[in-house]
Amino acid sequence: MSETIAPNKVVAINYAVKTEDGQTLDQSKDGSPLNFIHGRGMLIPGLENALEGKKVGDSFTAEVKPEEAYGERHDGLIQTVPRNLFGENEVQPGMQFRASTDQGEQSVVIVEVKDDEVTVDGNHPLAGVNLNFDVKVIEVREATEQELEHGHVHTDGEDH
Ligand SMILES: [Zn+2]
Repeated sequence: MSETIAPNKVVAINYAVKTEDGQTLDQSKDGSPLNFIHGRGMLIPGLENALEGKKVGDSFTAEVKPEEAYGERHDGLIQTVPRNLFGENEVQPGMQFRASTDQGEQSVVIVEVKDDEVTVDGNHPLAGVNLNFDVKVIEVREATEQELEHGHVHTDGEDH
């Protein structure tokens, strides 16, 4: 009898995730599936929802909209700041760093650099992006009490 994915099960999946135009963003490595405790918000909501009720051996694709992934893009998170805020640090488009903002610590990426101004984008890089997952369910089992207590999976009997 095959275990079914439900909250607090330990699940192992092989997966690949692509944008709508087929660019691969991430994938599990051969022989090294992604392990997680289901229903704990370890994955984006859209992928957890798609996994609910699936069984070992199931292969499926799931299209996940931004609201069930990394959210919509907000133009308000794009800001232009004085170049001198960065001091002597090198600034190049594409560079990512942590910044203190009114909303607390935030990851921002530099989108444009001018002589005295730098434009930064505080949106998650995958905000507003539709994600297409290819998933295969490798393993489903009960979580141990210790795993539930720690909130993570113990693979190969490790205890940490
Ligand atoms: Zn642990």
